[in-house]
Amino acid sequence: CLILVPLVVVIHRKPDLSLKNLRWRETSTEDNSDVAEDTLKSPEELDQLMSKLETPLVIEAVDYGKNDYKAAFNERMELLRKTFAEPITEPKSKNLVRPYDSLAGTASATILCLTRNQDLSDIVTSIQQLEEQFNNQFGYPYTFLNDEEFSDHFKNEITRLLPIDREVHFGKIDPEMWDMPDSIDPEVFKSKMEQLEDVQHANKASYHNMCRFYSRSFYHHPLLAKYKYIWRVEPNVNFYCKINYDIFQFMEHNNKIYGFVLNLYDSPESVKSLWKSTMNFVKKHPQYLHPNGSYEWLKDNVQKPQNYEITGGYSTCHFWTNFEIINLDFLRSKPYEDYMNFLESEKGFYYERWGDAPVRSLALALFADKSRIHWFRDIGYQHFPYTNCPKSPAGSDRCNGNCQPGSFAPWPSLRSENCLPVWLEHIMTQEELESY
Ligand code: GDP
Ligand code: MN
Repeated sequence: CLILVPLVVVIHRKPDLSLKNLRWRETSTEDNSDVAEDTLKSPEELDQLMSKLETPLVIEAVDYGKNDYKAAFNERMELLRKTFAEPITEPKSKNLVRPYDSLAGTASATILCLTRNQDLSDIVTSIQQLEEQFNNQFGYPYTFLNDEEFSDHFKNEITRLLPIDREVHFGKIDPEMWDMPDSIDPEVFKSKMEQLEDVQHANKASYHNMCRFYSRSFYHHPLLAKYKYIWRVEPNVNFYCKINYDIFQFMEHNNKIYGFVLNLYDSPESVKSLWKSTMNFVKKHPQYLHPNGSYEWLKDNVQKPQNYEITGGYSTCHFWTNFEIINLDFLRSKPYEDYMNFLESEKGFYYERWGDAPVRSLALALFADKSRIHWFRDIGYQHFPYTNCPKSPAGSDRCNGNCQPGSFAPWPSLRSENCLPVWLEHIMTQEELESY
């Protein structure tokens, strides 16, 4: 698609944090028209967007007193408490597709599992629960990917688990999609990782491969070429509540690009230079910025001011990508692809430990319309140690009782890792909050 880059005039002035007074024009594009967010913006509009990206959410937070910080944090926890106290069954959307509707199970979609052979029993428990809560009513196909060949045992056990007519694909990932690329010096990688010893999984090359694969490669795998949506499922996760509507058709009919359930802060050391790199990219491609992006969420400096400081301006808020439902057209779009190529050239997938979660989240927050990102408040889900547990209306047996409504983590000390209050307060509209 055609991107016009007008001359950018940078004027330093007090930023206007509201986007309400921004005008923008949608341009039509030939390909990816469903997700193309390319808009033609004037220098003034671009200047406003750049200012937003350079400004912390709360300016006084630079010297926030301890008590103020606590008060802000307590307010956020209260917002969470109130939100989770509201019972929920499903979105109040008129166009939900039910199990026996003719459109049920017909979206262009697959459930995607990246696993090793030895993860068999852990992926089996995830799939059993997903089938019971959702997919036995809709019959979406599965796609299993692995950097090694799946064993016959793995394939047989998975096939045995699923109904006989269910489509299941097993694929191997090419080394060029998975392995450390030639641009990375293994010695430099080793020494950098010695400095990052406190960052989880930093010393495992395979983990870096996985993060890079989920950031920039998986949607190029030939087995995914025919699909528009994926639902990513990991080993050892739990689904607690019945989902009685077709999730993929919900995405389709409501024009959503991305669905998430959990929203966290990241380890700032793992993404130390990601924000600065990203800003360099954005300065080269300001037209990729979406006027209705999720900027406040990126700029939160209240709850984890040290994260904001260490990264030079990024809250580290991210969608927890072990659960994600993605419209792949967004990943296949020019802004996302260009961003991935740029990040690859920055080498942070190996010389730091950039996760696919912050990478995906930055792309979405910057290049996508925030109204096209959906919090599945109704989905009961856990990937240890974090949980999204909805409260059901009295008398409902939708959820199986294996999670405590409103619970987030097994230890209170982890509560501050929850970035969802920022999303609720600054990104979602009142209408969206009432749409469940
Ligand atoms: P964590 O959730 O961040 O602790 O990471 P996981 O260990 O759960 O890995 C994330 C996803 O990538 C899961 O679906 C894993 O099965 C998968 N994964 C991680 N490393 C590898 C690997 O080396 N090979 C394969 N095939 N899958 C991997
Ligand atoms: Mn995991």
